[in-house]
Amino acid sequence: MSSYIPAGESGSADTVRDPRGFAIKFYTEEGNWDLTGNNTPIFFIRDAMLFPSFIHSQKRNPQTHMKDPDMVWDFWSLRPESLHQVSFLFSDRGLPDGFRHMNGYGSHTFKLVAADGEPVYCKFHLKTDQGIKNMSVEEADRLASTNPDYAIGDLFNAIANGNCPSWTFYIQVMTFEQAEKFQFNPFDLTKVWSHQEYPLIPVGKMVLNRNPVNYFAEVEQLAFDPSNMPPGIEASPDKMLQGRLFSYPDTHRHRLGANYLQIPVNCPFRARVANYQRDGPMCMFDNQGGAPNYYPNSFSAPETQPHFVESKFQVSADVHRYNSADEDNVTQVRAFYTQVLNEGERQRLCQNMAGALNGAQIFIQKRMVENLKAIHPDYGNRVQALLNKYSADAQETSTVHVYSRPGASAVAASSKM
Ligand code: NDP
Repeated sequence: MSSYIPAGESGSADTVRDPRGFAIKFYTEEGNWDLTGNNTPIFFIRDAMLFPSFIHSQKRNPQTHMKDPDMVWDFWSLRPESLHQVSFLFSDRGLPDGFRHMNGYGSHTFKLVAADGEPVYCKFHLKTDQGIKNMSVEEADRLASTNPDYAIGDLFNAIANGNCPSWTFYIQVMTFEQAEKFQFNPFDLTKVWSHQEYPLIPVGKMVLNRNPVNYFAEVEQLAFDPSNMPPGIEASPDKMLQGRLFSYPDTHRHRLGANYLQIPVNCPFRARVANYQRDGPMCMFDNQGGAPNYYPNSFSAPETQPHFVESKFQVSADVHRYNSADEDNVTQVRAFYTQVLNEGERQRLCQNMAGALNGAQIFIQKRMVENLKAIHPDYGNRVQALLNKYSADAQETSTVHVYSRPGASAVAASSKM
């Protein structure tokens, strides 16, 4: 039976089921661009207000300090927009064979702005040239105990041996007019843009041809900010992206200090920075000497240079805080289940999911299965049948439910879908 122990701390095994980050820093002449993505084109939530809660649900229980299936599945089953990503996660692609054999995705919708100021929406895809390769549950479990650094070792050794892995870089493009008519919200991070309607356009190649010389200096201190965007690349109204534009730099100021952008690996060394907010601990350079630190002033360039100004866009709608849980959460997941996966992949998805869901309390299992049935009756029924089997097996062997907590059923009574 497959377990699920997500969101491991630094040093946890590389081969556990979990989304893998896929972030790239481009040192351009106009400042750094950070593409801070994942190995899946979608995410669990579409509203950044839920981001802290989602992360808490994957981390440790505040009382037991253990990973807690109740927390994981309670949150997911109450937020059905997570079903697309959860289905990816429990499919074969949830256990990639190292980092070389998985795709990377910018995931969010961004804007590309042409030199004449004309913007389009876009998505970024990096497809592995090594081909997709996943791991069996058994092999992943074996490596978790015998070689927990499997993925980092595989990548380091491949590069060191000159077997440099590469990814082909593609974009999908959608005009503003197409976005108005798109059948889904084009800024919804729980959805993809169809490849048929918005074909992948090749734009480049990324080759990993050098390992870091010092892990701490070049990797541990790396700070990726989705808000690092040079002219021509801009944010879209994607609510998750809008939230990340603030939360990532905030985290880095806390983790690395106010001047984290002066740490060599984060420094936009190919661009000359002139800003008015300076000082703070660990200042590493001359702090721009005597250049003015206020605006307006009579001595330096104007604060806004046309080339760096965001493109303008029209807004006409009511702005308010609303619950986005009941947008279409099923259509694309159904396509994934019925059209993308083959029969063997469907079976393994259901086995992987049931094995993990089995750790949660029965009322949470039931709510999750109902959500799966809304995707496709076969999906829900298969997972339920496996849960029934595990439950019968457990009764026979008198397995104790490790994670049942006092007070949890009282909480359950008051939770609503
Ligand atoms: P397509 O048939 O054109 O695309 C399906 C895509 O699914 C493939 O191109 C591949 O994307 C990805 N894929 C293939 N096998 C698997 C697998 N076993 N596990 C996970 N992903 C796989 O159809 P659409 O573009 O209309 O998308 C249909 C569904 O495919 C979507 O609802 C979504 O669930 C899934 N999908 C779509 C992607 C997209 O960006 N349109 C990307 C990934 C999945 P890739 O080349 O990125 O590996």
